[in-house]
Amino acid sequence: MLQNLIGKMIIDGAVVAARSPTVEVANPSTGEIIGVVGIASADELERAVRAARAAFRPWADLPAKARSLHLHNLGDAIAADADAMARLMTLEQGKPVNEARGEILKLAETCHFYAEEAARIHGETIPNDSTDFDSTVVREPIGVVGAITPWNYPAELVGWKLCGALAAGCTIVIKPAEITPFTALAIGAKCIEAGIPAGVVNVITGPGSVVGQALVEHKGVDKIAFTGSSAVGLKIQQSATSVKRMALELGGNCPMVVTASADLDAAVAGAARRSFRNCGQICIAINRIYVARSVYDAFVAKLAQAADALRVADGLADPSADLGSMASAEPLAKTRAHLNDAVAKGARLLAGGAAPEGAAFAKGHFFRPTVLADCTHEMLVMTEETFGPIVGVAPFDTLAEAVQKSNDTPYGLASYVYGKDADEIRYLSRRLDYGNVAVNTVDAGIINAPYGGRKQSGVGYEHGREGMLEYMNFKHIRVRYDLPEGA
Ligand code: NAP
Ligand code: MG
Repeated sequence: MLQNLIGKMIIDGAVVAARSPTVEVANPSTGEIIGVVGIASADELERAVRAARAAFRPWADLPAKARSLHLHNLGDAIAADADAMARLMTLEQGKPVNEARGEILKLAETCHFYAEEAARIHGETIPNDSTDFDSTVVREPIGVVGAITPWNYPAELVGWKLCGALAAGCTIVIKPAEITPFTALAIGAKCIEAGIPAGVVNVITGPGSVVGQALVEHKGVDKIAFTGSSAVGLKIQQSATSVKRMALELGGNCPMVVTASADLDAAVAGAARRSFRNCGQICIAINRIYVARSVYDAFVAKLAQAADALRVADGLADPSADLGSMASAEPLAKTRAHLNDAVAKGARLLAGGAAPEGAAFAKGHFFRPTVLADCTHEMLVMTEETFGPIVGVAPFDTLAEAVQKSNDTPYGLASYVYGKDADEIRYLSRRLDYGNVAVNTVDAGIINAPYGGRKQSGVGYEHGREGMLEYMNFKHIRVRYDLPEGA
């Protein structure tokens, strides 16, 4: 699969050779270069946007049922090749193969979900002041979408945009992260295989500051759908050269609150999963945990044990490892910086704190899952997104304090609560200023329900019906009627 994608882009329904294939892509577990991709030139970007523009009207005018069938076919094509796509993802991203396969299968599920939504795009009829008027609101696709995606979920984050946009009747030009371009190219190739018409889906590659920025500034792009850091999201919002729709899914610093009534073992299992899965490189990773003082000591001891029990390994050689390599040197360096900062300010290191030892880990970006106790908001780990396998824990005395601390960052993506008392659950879930509150579970999102951030975590929604409506304009058609002759 990889060999056919090296040095390629997907433009106008074809896998084409990039003009300057110079960006090296490394396997983060070993440092080996697995291939190169191109830096899209102005001309290549132009061809992709033109292809998407030319394909737009015919795609939008297809009966909804036909677009739906295309998306079902895409879901089938992806699921049928899940093993190869998963290995490709592990090779460029580092997560264990079983986890990567799970992500590919969720992408296939997303195709089927939006295939079904595509067939249910309906409008509204709105009452007027007098009965001789009809106000109808119809929904129309926005046009050409530019999608810019990060490297932590190289399939799903492309898929949510791709499927929502295509269901709505939009066409798309995708610019994946420079370090994980092959998964996006593989998805683009699957679109061709599934018979999606030429130009509807295009994938161009290259560094974000060059190619992503050019896509943002392109006047032929009607909407930017971006997932990435808050800093780049803000830059995108500020640098558009014409008015266009924007959805920005940005960074987080997600809190977990564990109350005195919580099932402590369940809370520990949840905390270990959502702090360390994908090496913590998840926008909705648990970054910090506030624990009721009466159960604090027991909680931190159990969490440290759970972290120590996790297996770190090369995700290709060991498909069922708990953690693979981090995706690149950058998030690992930030993890170490946050660790050092916290320890210097008095945090207690209870688990991890270093790379695993041994020759197998020498060339990769591996790090042990790390637990820090007695953290305060003076420490970066409690207020900034680490995007690494590290979690800070602190005690609280009142629920009001837990809420105040939880809301005390610029972010508002996801939050987690463990507690058995219904009053506590209601109190916390209504006051946490987050787009998601997950209670007694750490799987915050499902494809059927809207997902999006507040504050510096972004604008707009993905998932659910809302994730398709983001790609639509509303049009109000107001008609005045007269009594027909002879009535
Ligand atoms: P990033 O540096 O912001 O990059 C995201 C994407 O933007 C990449 O494709 C990048 O390209 C591109 N880019 C960079 N500069 C650009 C510019 N000036 N104009 C246009 N595009 C530009 O983020 P990341 O480090 O890849 O990803 C981690 C971040 O994503 C974290 O903050 C995480 O929380 C966030 N995230 C949010 C969600 C959510 O749903 N809210 C989900 C996942 C991740 P290159 O990589 O090729 O430079
Ligand atoms: Mg980056």
